[in-house]
Amino acid sequence: MIDMNIPTLDLKAQYLTIKQEIDQKVLEVISTQRFILGPEVEALEKELADYCGTKHAVGVSSGSDALLASLMAFEVGEGDGVITTPFTFFATAGAITRLKARPVFCDIDRESCNLSPDRLTELLEGKAEKQGDTTVKGIIPIHLYGQCAEMKPIMELARKYDLFVLEDGAQAVGSEYIMPEGPRKACSIGDAGMLSFFPSKNLSCFGDGGMILTGNGEMAEKLKVLRIHGSKNKYFYEIIGGNFRLDALQAGILRVKLRHLEEWLEKRRERASYYDQRFRESGLVEEKFVLPPGPLYRNSGLKNYHTYHQYVVRVKNRDDLQTYLKNKGVSTAIYYPLPLHLQKCFAYLGYTEGDFPESERAAREVLALPIYPELTTEQQDYIISAIQEFYTH
Ligand SMILES: *Cc1c(COP(=O)(O)O)cnc(C)c1O
Repeated sequence: MIDMNIPTLDLKAQYLTIKQEIDQKVLEVISTQRFILGPEVEALEKELADYCGTKHAVGVSSGSDALLASLMAFEVGEGDGVITTPFTFFATAGAITRLKARPVFCDIDRESCNLSPDRLTELLEGKAEKQGDTTVKGIIPIHLYGQCAEMKPIMELARKYDLFVLEDGAQAVGSEYIMPEGPRKACSIGDAGMLSFFPSKNLSCFGDGGMILTGNGEMAEKLKVLRIHGSKNKYFYEIIGGNFRLDALQAGILRVKLRHLEEWLEKRRERASYYDQRFRESGLVEEKFVLPPGPLYRNSGLKNYHTYHQYVVRVKNRDDLQTYLKNKGVSTAIYYPLPLHLQKCFAYLGYTEGDFPESERAAREVLALPIYPELTTEQQDYIISAIQEFYTH
């Protein structure tokens, strides 16, 4: 077999498929010399709100700022606690601490790697250890790898305990979930949801960008004030915000890409199915090689039951496999190698090893294989053969 070099993501390949449309849009925005907010941002907000099935969308400077601004809108501050999992990108918990509030960690479900409704119930019912004198105000469930967290029980618990729910949809634009009232898209179920347009995300811009989605008009208005330092009337400030604005250029690029998103999600799913099928046939799949969570909602009739932001397998000798693949030219990634409760910067929270066994176990076992719409069957075959070789050599 000829050696190949396969990245985890190939943005150049994506750009080439839409170069004309993108270049034209970029030139169009440049010709207006209007760069901050404005009509492109407003149009994107409208289109994304429609796509996600929410009333309002507010474009912001990044996914991290989307989290921060949302928590500011929920008036999270000193003495407050916000529940989230320790198995997520740093920003989810980082935003909480930047407001002097406390992340209250809750373990994940082994299969989905998303917030475990059972652990959440225990935590809220006080069976798990209380977190000092923190008053828990809200929950941030993460739709990790492109699959929605179990929003039905999470929303029921949130209503019971009067907590806000902010969906971290950074990895799950377009993902669907069935609520009792019918199918819903990620970020349209909680009180608010956020997206990131970081270049590696399923819908991405040419730099940093983010979006907050909400059905609450008052919250949307507040967010629009917060993103311009808190001023409703220019140079008069009633609250303290920040510069959380989305650029017009990024919005223009995102509007072009949004037209292709459904097709890209479809291609991601096709590639994931191909991996699933070939790995099953290979006989690798047993204790030592676990496929991504058998999409929990595969038979639900939903199209985007999983949007495969990442295709993540779980393996016992993960680091050896990663090194082996690297030597074969196959790039892989580990999301995430150290759970947040064990990070040095969060030592003051007082958590120790063993507190969240599923998160710790996932951190040792997960490995993300290359997946993107432009990944070819030849490339996938090469990756699959290399993995088979690792187990038989
Ligand atoms: C990427 C990501 C973010 C942060 O988004 P940025 O746009 O990079 O700031 C937040 N949460 C999760 C789960 C992410 O994957």
